[in-house]
Amino acid sequence: MQKTHSDTFSLARSQELFAEAQQLLPGGVNSPVRAFRGVGGDPVFIERAEGAHLYDVDGHRYLDYVQSWGPMILGHTYPAVLEAVVAASQRGFSFGAPTEAESVLARMVIESVPSVEMIRFVNSGTEATMSALRLARAYTGRNKIIKFSGCYHGHADMLLVQAGSGVATMGLPDSPGVPEQTTQDTLTAEYNDTAAVEQLFATYPDDIAAVIVEPIAANMGLVPPAPGFLESLRELTERHHAVLIFDEVMTGFRVALGGMQERVQITPDLTCFGKIIGGGLPVGAYGGRREIMAQVAPLGSMYQAGTLSGNPLAMAAGIATLNELRKPGQYQELERKGQLLEEGFTKALQDHQIEASFVRIGAMFCLYFNREPVVNYTVAKRSDTALFARYFWSMLEKGIYLPPSQFESCFISLALEDAMLEETVRAASASLGAVVS
Ligand code: PLP
Repeated sequence: MQKTHSDTFSLARSQELFAEAQQLLPGGVNSPVRAFRGVGGDPVFIERAEGAHLYDVDGHRYLDYVQSWGPMILGHTYPAVLEAVVAASQRGFSFGAPTEAESVLARMVIESVPSVEMIRFVNSGTEATMSALRLARAYTGRNKIIKFSGCYHGHADMLLVQAGSGVATMGLPDSPGVPEQTTQDTLTAEYNDTAAVEQLFATYPDDIAAVIVEPIAANMGLVPPAPGFLESLRELTERHHAVLIFDEVMTGFRVALGGMQERVQITPDLTCFGKIIGGGLPVGAYGGRREIMAQVAPLGSMYQAGTLSGNPLAMAAGIATLNELRKPGQYQELERKGQLLEEGFTKALQDHQIEASFVRIGAMFCLYFNREPVVNYTVAKRSDTALFARYFWSMLEKGIYLPPSQFESCFISLALEDAMLEETVRAASASLGAVVS
């Protein structure tokens, strides 16, 4: 029988497993944010997941707002995706040779995202951004890149500068082991600061290969682009013949079928994908203008490869996921669910007179314990992380699994039914009341 969340809430088995894992894996995990350092305490070990729910090893059930950090937009073990993966696995796990499925998924992405004329599949978002930047440098013959503080583009050396996500959570300014030479061409600007980008282009008019940006910054909580910001990046890169890269690893197929670029109607030169296009299996991709993608080996001379790239199981999961998302009304439904949560959270904040900001774009949201509107990393870092930690644990005990950090976005899945959203709002109201009293 399912345990209820009450005074008896115990994570004893998770704690046991974490103690063992810490002997074997650095910090007991294979990706830092999973260790719960941002909220204190030990992480919850998951046994299985189905639909909107996660089930832990101590017998608790949670509504999942992490969704494996984004991919599980349909919910877990979605029947059509499960069937597709099982069927693909029966035909063989990996061949290291071309398959039709790669073209099927490529076509689906190209049809949904008009700026993408050709695409290359890789195995993670990190590989996608790393390769896209190599391509931009090869294409322009320049070395410098601009990234924004608090934007996370994976853990490639040159991008571990002022990065968000786990780097923000862990309070690491940069990482040891990243040689200065690899970051000396990485220029940074504050998110939403057009003047800073103009200044960088004025200082290095002929040296900047690319500007890489999360079109919604979702690794420092959730920071929308200010009106005109992304437009100014498009205009400046065009003027200086630099490549504009939208990192839509998080936002691709999440905020619209065509990603954030569809919402803002801006055409980047290259786009990075990950998460949803793999349906929960390891996938990344980069794609864009044919003329630029033609530089990628073996068509061109920019080398990039991968033993498992375009893996048949991952392609099958991605195709099945996008097939569902292409059905009419899916994004309207996500928006409706998002609105329901937004109304509930906004009322709960008012009821408890808490000055915090609830930020939402489509099926992504973040509750900042911050009195100011969060427009960039500097402001995001002023959030009350201690208050967030208390709220997080209170929500967990009430059966709501949130990202264990103030600096991550929550995700809404299509599997969340209205009654579950209402349950979430009730839990949030009770938790907010408890943490400020
Ligand atoms: N880019 C963005 C915007 C991301 O959010 C992430 C991961 O969260 C990455 C890149 C890196 O992707 P991966 O963790 O698959 O390497």
